[in-house]
Amino acid sequence: MTWKPKPPPVDQLNYAQHSGWRCCWCNKSLMGGARSAGISRGSSGVHVLDIEVYECGPRCPKRPRPPRRRPPKKDSQEGTP
Ligand SMILES: [Zn+2]
Repeated sequence: MTWKPKPPPVDQLNYAQHSGWRCCWCNKSLMGGARSAGISRGSSGVHVLDIEVYECGPRCPKRPRPPRRRPPKKDSQEGTP
């Protein structure tokens, strides 16, 4: 399973991000390559303005990180035989 951050809502996107020209997180130009970041949600009254937005990649500096789960405890320091 791949964790995906939820893209910013439509009203927080600028024109270029909304058009898919720039990364929805860091605003970088996506001329060099892009991938889908998911669906940005928006609405205006009864009209749904949801739109697919794009990101520069998994290493985007502004991309939210997955929530950390607590790693299983390893007691390697104590209790060694
Ligand atoms: Zn980016």
